[in-house]
Amino acid sequence: MRLFDTHCHFDFDVYKRNFNAHLSEACLAQVERFLVPSVGPSNWVRVRQLADDFPAIYSALGFHPCFLAETHTDQLKQLDELLDLSVRRCVAVGECGLDGKIDIPEWQQETMFIGQLELAKNHKLPLILHGHRTQNRLLQLLKRHKFTGGGILHAFSGSYQQAMQFVELGFYIGVGGVITYPRANKTRKAVSQLDLDCIVLETDAPDMPIKGHQGLANHPKYLPLILSCLSELNGNDEQLIANTVWNNSLSVLNIDE
Ligand SMILES: [Zn+2]
Ligand SMILES: [Zn+2]
Repeated sequence: MRLFDTHCHFDFDVYKRNFNAHLSEACLAQVERFLVPSVGPSNWVRVRQLADDFPAIYSALGFHPCFLAETHTDQLKQLDELLDLSVRRCVAVGECGLDGKIDIPEWQQETMFIGQLELAKNHKLPLILHGHRTQNRLLQLLKRHKFTGGGILHAFSGSYQQAMQFVELGFYIGVGGVITYPRANKTRKAVSQLDLDCIVLETDAPDMPIKGHQGLANHPKYLPLILSCLSELNGNDEQLIANTVWNNSLSVLNIDE
């Protein structure tokens, strides 16, 4: 069995000491590939470096909506140039999107999101979407700007109908630790109804603790717990799910292995 953590912030400080040990722990849990999304110019160098140093790691470059305070639109040009230079190991633009629970003004979030969506079009890259409480608005913007390059709606939570609107636009649904909580009724029901062909798995480590591991930094080594929860929800066996979501992960990120 091989698993792909399609969203983990492996560049964050919590993993910096003994990074190799963290990577081996994940590999022992059969998590063999990682997509490390960036949050903005502050970690582009580190994320690119990880992807250069470790064949198991791929990167995404972009501006996370929650980290926009010290950025300005001129930096989109920087991102454009960086995407030209990073072709091999940078497989997506992101994470980018909108967050409904932060103080950054909506206009600023939307300007940066639209800028990145246009860059993704030009560089023919998929998007890693962050849509906390903003999924409907994201859909509107993707449609209005005729984005057809697909990608991953990460940390999905919501109804089956909402998920399918993204699937219809060519996106995969990033399923993470939220499904391990029985109180996440709506999301668990939605995920149980989704076709395996549109699902990828993620931990969002160090965020999104998995049930039973609250209070600790999340880790990609816990991805198998999400897999087994998904298996309980949709009744497919773990091996079948693992194979399918592995292929989905390579396919959405255009990785040829
Ligand atoms: Zn996110
Ligand atoms: Zn993230």
